[in-house]
Amino acid sequence: MGGLYPGTTGERMKTVDILLANAHVLTMDEGLHQYNPGAVAVSGDSIVAVGDDAALRAEYQAAETVDCGGQVLMPGLINAHTHVPMSLLRGLADDLRLDVWLMGYMMPVEREYVSPEFVQLGTSIACAELIRSGVTTFNDMYYFEEHVARAAAQAGMRAVCGQTVMKFPAPDAEAYEDSLAKARDFIRRWKGHPLIVPAIAPHAPYTCTAEILRATAEIAREFDVPLHTHIAETAGEVENMRSEHGMPVVPYVKKQGLLEAKVIAAHCVHIDSGEMRTFLHAGTGIAHNPSSNLKLASGFAPVTRMLETGLNVGIGTDGAASNNDLDMLEEVRLAAFIAKVVTNDPTSLPASTALAMATRVGAQALHLGHITGSLTPGRRADVILIDLSPLHNSPAFRRSADNVYAQIVYAAKSTDVSDVMVNGKWLMRQHQLLTLQEKELLGEAASLARRIDAFLVAREQSILSKLIALGGSMEQEAFEVQVKVKVADSQSVRDAMHRPTIEIVRYRHYGQHDVYFTFDEESQGRLRYREDDFLDEGGRVTNTRRRLTLLGRKREGRFEHDVLLSRTRFFAPATQGLRFYREYFRPRTETPIAKDRERWLIKFRDTEFFINLDEMQDPALGRFVEVKSRTWSRTDAERKARLTSELLAVLDLAKSETVASDYIDVVGMAD
Ligand SMILES: [Zn+2]
Repeated sequence: MGGLYPGTTGERMKTVDILLANAHVLTMDEGLHQYNPGAVAVSGDSIVAVGDDAALRAEYQAAETVDCGGQVLMPGLINAHTHVPMSLLRGLADDLRLDVWLMGYMMPVEREYVSPEFVQLGTSIACAELIRSGVTTFNDMYYFEEHVARAAAQAGMRAVCGQTVMKFPAPDAEAYEDSLAKARDFIRRWKGHPLIVPAIAPHAPYTCTAEILRATAEIAREFDVPLHTHIAETAGEVENMRSEHGMPVVPYVKKQGLLEAKVIAAHCVHIDSGEMRTFLHAGTGIAHNPSSNLKLASGFAPVTRMLETGLNVGIGTDGAASNNDLDMLEEVRLAAFIAKVVTNDPTSLPASTALAMATRVGAQALHLGHITGSLTPGRRADVILIDLSPLHNSPAFRRSADNVYAQIVYAAKSTDVSDVMVNGKWLMRQHQLLTLQEKELLGEAASLARRIDAFLVAREQSILSKLIALGGSMEQEAFEVQVKVKVADSQSVRDAMHRPTIEIVRYRHYGQHDVYFTFDEESQGRLRYREDDFLDEGGRVTNTRRRLTLLGRKREGRFEHDVLLSRTRFFAPATQGLRFYREYFRPRTETPIAKDRERWLIKFRDTEFFINLDEMQDPALGRFVEVKSRTWSRTDAERKARLTSELLAVLDLAKSETVASDYIDVVGMAD
């Protein structure tokens, strides 16, 4: 850090590595001090002094003095919430609802493509974009997070890197236990790195179990690292939380011990005053993501109220697939604009506050306020230069200290950022990136985009592969033997169930609500969304089961008494509501069917059959008895078809009119 030399004034001059001189210095410290002309002295990785240009020139002898030509010199911007590798998925799927976008597109593509190489490439490209827009620190959450850390460190950026943990299988983990182990190992090896703060990132309360939330909080506390998560991003999330756990999101995560960690909570669009105070007491940092919230119509985060409560609210871009860029100056401007509209008050969130959120307050939100975020002696040298001379910034008024903040927040563009330094090292000089090869990186991203395009084109052609892409436990069935008979009197069927050759294994009563989707191409089959409301003896709903079944198109053949042999191809529990599947599968037609169903599982000649007694309510087609059996083998299916005819005789239904074909014609489907 240099020794002492005699100065021209007779006092001894201190030596520093770099003196950034002749700048309009915005410290972004608590008092928002400015120096114009001002200077910043840097030695090694840290800021040594900040002050008037003349004073610092007199006090410091620098190995290199940089004349900033009157440009704005300020702390680098802090991107408080992002998923940097998603820069490779920019523009992949847009104008969709959050669940369809996430579960239908992002997660399936990620399961297929995300690898350490993907993460490395995506991070490098994102770093180039971030540096160009004046960002020096970002807070990330993704898979293979160690590779985000590596690429960020290589690019020379400061980053909080959160290893994702969630209940679903992830690209880097078959089960959440693997993610927890990965996170622990990653944190242990990277803690203490000069640029990287390793962290753990339970994705969100709704994608994690209570057990995962507790385990991640324990790891964060054990290693004293941040915990990065998404909180109350949509109104639906809060609604579900209330109906499932009887409380909003913040009390729920608090109950799981999450807030005992150093939490960074992204979004917080739908939280109330009580939840804000809970966050304040816990020291939770907030990341506000205006573009993402606007684009996904998540709502307007109560930023002004959060700031009034005393919370540290930073600003983030979110991932490049939901923004779609990593332009922090744009986010700062939007944050200011939205706050004004939401409060109906143009004095809300003035430019200086918005810029503080993107610097000092953002660093505090990331629990890094002692490291970066302001030009203060002792903080790391994370600084940027902004050129305010271009046309769109002109002219410059300096009557009030606020003029320059307004100029940056309301007029400047990210391309006005000319120079970026992190940890005392230049990453960009006069618009030239010094640590990244932009052209090569973009070439690799373009060829990956072509592969992902081809994958999605193939997937979109098949309902089955779209169904599989949703993940979850999917089971396949082969043959279904069934006969459907119209009956006038349901009591005679109930009585017949007590015949000596019939052994009742189980009985259930439920209300069944189906919606059948059909598609342009008949060969795709039909998709059935089914909700079973299980009813107790008094007819009250005890619980509901939702299932999704892809039904084969063709009847395989017909047997005596119109016994039908068909293929049921795939079924899976439906984890989303009907609206999700409608928007995801985009059916040509939708047919709702509602019925009251009594179902017996019986044994007849050592073979299991289901007997359904249905009262069709919508459309009101009357009462039907269905005899059904399933099997994997065609020979067995044929045996069961013969047995079905016998069973019909036992049930006194053999001479009844079988209506399979009628039913198919009327309702448009065999079920
Ligand atoms: Zn996010």
